[in-house]
Amino acid sequence: MTGYADPRRIEAMIEGLDRFTATPGRGTTRLTYSAEYRAAADFVAGWMRDAGLTVRQDAVGTIIGRIEGRNPDLAPILVGSHLDSVPNGGRFDGPAGVVAGIETAFLFRDLGLVPDRPVEVVAMIEEEGTRFGGGLFGSRLLTGAIGPEALEDLRDGQGVSAAEAMRAYGLDPARAGEAARAPGSVHAFLELHIEQGPVLEAEGRDIAIVETIVGLAQLRVTVRGQAAHAGTTPMDQRRDALVGAVGILAQLPDLARQVGRGAVLTVGRMEVLPGGANVIPDLVTFTIDLRAPAEADVLRLIEMVEGTVAHAQGNGLSCTIERQLYAPPTPLSDQIQTALLAQAEGLGLSHRVMVSGAGHDAMILAGLAPTGLIFVPSRGGVSHAPEEWTDYAQLARGTDLIFATIRQMSGAVPG
Ligand SMILES: [Zn+2]
Repeated sequence: MTGYADPRRIEAMIEGLDRFTATPGRGTTRLTYSAEYRAAADFVAGWMRDAGLTVRQDAVGTIIGRIEGRNPDLAPILVGSHLDSVPNGGRFDGPAGVVAGIETAFLFRDLGLVPDRPVEVVAMIEEEGTRFGGGLFGSRLLTGAIGPEALEDLRDGQGVSAAEAMRAYGLDPARAGEAARAPGSVHAFLELHIEQGPVLEAEGRDIAIVETIVGLAQLRVTVRGQAAHAGTTPMDQRRDALVGAVGILAQLPDLARQVGRGAVLTVGRMEVLPGGANVIPDLVTFTIDLRAPAEADVLRLIEMVEGTVAHAQGNGLSCTIERQLYAPPTPLSDQIQTALLAQAEGLGLSHRVMVSGAGHDAMILAGLAPTGLIFVPSRGGVSHAPEEWTDYAQLARGTDLIFATIRQMSGAVPG
């Protein structure tokens, strides 16, 4: 098989982007609207211009590079992924899909192809939810699933609201609604992502075509007690918020086991205030991420968690739980799966169908337009860690599939 995509150009983009991290030598830490994020967005815009794209930044900071169509009034095909990262994450989660989109534009240019309908490469903000706590934030703004008012409510670990961070980044939060795409204004969305699991590597396959994305919920629990002196307050007169929080936490893994059928639950972040070694904590917040392939199981697990938190109320502690994100399992477009399958066959790529256990921008975009998602292999299945790795030859094969599918769907012919 002869490939189209250039693994060295892909490598140059991925490695170049990886320089923009707050934790050099300890993986990629690129929070939305940070200085590193600005540098990465500018870097991406530069590569897009080199690929011949017309580049703009939308009202929430998404970088959009457009290949104009012969018929510019037709709804565009969107291709891309996100630029933000988890703390100390890897270089491929997100950027792989952005780079696949830019490389597709290079191939259009190099092969002299002009699409009938426009193609837009998108590099989106805040998919991981690392900075502001709500995952898939950028794609939810892009689809209009959430409005600008959410920007005031969501705050980072330092108490900075998303709206304040936008202003510091040079954006006007009052105009955030302008980033939303109207229903019918997008023809299709395609995303390449790393698998973040071990299956493709173990089976020696090039590509997974995703049929469904698991349902997920992100919850936040707040436990309030009373701060007091660690030395002078007797054990039976304490209202220790951390002891209450840990009591809840200890019960949670069993709830996911009871639900079974692929249900998983994780507490990944906890804040303890006031945070003094000699002060009884009065305020603890922690996150709960829960997922399952079947919607009934997601809903049942949410109810069980809410029941557990409600039950922990008392003994001078108040416990509340908020739903920060709920996304039901998302079936992806049959038509696009069929198109991807045909192109994978034509390119001689080995492939399989897969359910995605991870949420992706594609699950939100699927509410706006027919959506396709493919995975490329992750070495050892590792991701959200500095060791995250995909061979550039494999990323190039995935990019070939994105390119060939967009060439066909956009009605591209030599100009
Ligand atoms: Zn990702």
